[in-house]
Amino acid sequence: MYSIAIDGPAGAGKSTIAKTIAKKLEFVYVDTGAMYRAMALYFLRNDIDASDEDAINEACKDIQVSITYEDGMQQVLLNGENVTGFIRTEEVGNMASKTSAYKTVRATLLDLQRDLAKTANILMDGRDIGTNVLPNADLKIYLTASSKVRAKRRYDELIEKGENADLEQIEEDIIIRDKQDMEREIAPLKKADDAILVDSSDMSIEQVVTVIVAAFEEIR
Ligand code: C5P
Repeated sequence: MYSIAIDGPAGAGKSTIAKTIAKKLEFVYVDTGAMYRAMALYFLRNDIDASDEDAINEACKDIQVSITYEDGMQQVLLNGENVTGFIRTEEVGNMASKTSAYKTVRATLLDLQRDLAKTANILMDGRDIGTNVLPNADLKIYLTASSKVRAKRRYDELIEKGENADLEQIEEDIIIRDKQDMEREIAPLKKADDAILVDSSDMSIEQVVTVIVAAFEEIR
């Protein structure tokens, strides 16, 4: 069984690229960010303050996250409810970034993530997959891009959807999120020593996919 880990900051294109590669290689795609988002949704719905670690720890006892697949697409369940449609907002993303720093939150998801890797060939993306969740992954990729490029991609996405967007504000949010994810004590975002660094600032999705698939073919 093979496992591929793709880590990197918000907006580097991980999920689009991971989904495409998983399809190509017929691997199961596991989006770990969605799991942190499901927990964040629970905290938001229950008015739990992100800075109140005791309340977060208490709440973790009542949270059960699991995943299933529908037509090959990952669905995240929060205490049995499919919340996939509710977790893609900025509010949930920011809450996920703050609360994912807590030990109890990370411990709630770690076993689930590791167990998934035992069941099939998987491609897992997140922040700490290569460094912490799957330290023995067969292939590790650290996918990044400049904050300017990441902000512009996010901006274009929002405009495409017909939403309002402020490019400068988006870049500011991205920089804050990077800082939170990279500077936390437990499982911070960083490149694993044995990960291949891919900077997608000047690359198309297809180019990134080609580079990663070629790297996998080399070790397969
Ligand atoms: O990738 P996504 O934006 O969905 O992740 C949301 C947040 O969840 C990240 O900002 C990060 O704080 C957290 N996360 C994490 N470890 C992972 C995946 C996501 O801490 N493996």
